[in-house]
Amino acid sequence: MPDRKCDDNANFGLAELVSALQQQYDAGIDVALEDIGLHTRPIANFEVPASLPASAPPASVQPAPAPPHSITPSPPASPAMPANGLSACDSLDSLRDELARFDGCALKKTASNLVFADGNPDAELMIIGEAPGGDEDRMGLPFVGAAGQLLDKMLISVGLRRTEVYITNILPWRPPGNRTPSTEEMQMLKPFLMRHIELKQPKIILALGGSSAKLLLDSTTGIMKLRGQVKTISTPNGDTYTVLPSLHPAYLLRAPAMKKLSYQDLLQLKSLLSATV
Ligand code: URA
Repeated sequence: MPDRKCDDNANFGLAELVSALQQQYDAGIDVALEDIGLHTRPIANFEVPASLPASAPPASVQPAPAPPHSITPSPPASPAMPANGLSACDSLDSLRDELARFDGCALKKTASNLVFADGNPDAELMIIGEAPGGDEDRMGLPFVGAAGQLLDKMLISVGLRRTEVYITNILPWRPPGNRTPSTEEMQMLKPFLMRHIELKQPKIILALGGSSAKLLLDSTTGIMKLRGQVKTISTPNGDTYTVLPSLHPAYLLRAPAMKKLSYQDLLQLKSLLSATV
């Protein structure tokens, strides 16, 4: 028996529609931003309305709808950085508010929540990852998904609890489909990250993964070379900070054999934290 049709005039069966949606989902298109006219309910529910509007023309003659959103990096919208820069932000809360007001980055439109930071604002250690994933986007907190759970275990292995560190990302909004952030997105948001560091004033920054390490160090060198090397960076106000690049827990989940390198870095981190300056 043929698939039940969504519309007598439509050329697609239910199974084909579900399969097309599944393909989009697998490609990382996992949110529907716009109603494309056929459905009045979220398309992601995979629900087929009992009847379609009488005026709906046959699917085959409709112009192809634009995809819900692209997983390729979108060009930046016109940035709306405060005229006097970010130096007017004099607390972590005011920086968070400034980011929430910032409309220059298209990622904000597809994200569910701003993911600013978690942990202890007075901690000596500031951990900087790449960008929120799905769990972080839903909860508005960094590193709460599978990679976050591994990060917690990594910290425990050197005697640090999550409540004793401060955690953030280079991007506060989830890239659709968890794609790698574009250079433009990272550069656009770098001033916020630099001000975040200046306000937080950590003793040590642990840069997790290539995106974070390269952005902070202004480097094109890969993370396998950068990891474990203690570096110094300067922020716009002239402060200097110690950065230790290391492997990202999401990478360690895929490549568990690399955990021994990560553990070496964590031991080095522990001795940097213990050292009196
Ligand atoms: N990966 C990151 O880099 N940051 C998160 O918050 C979660 C996963």
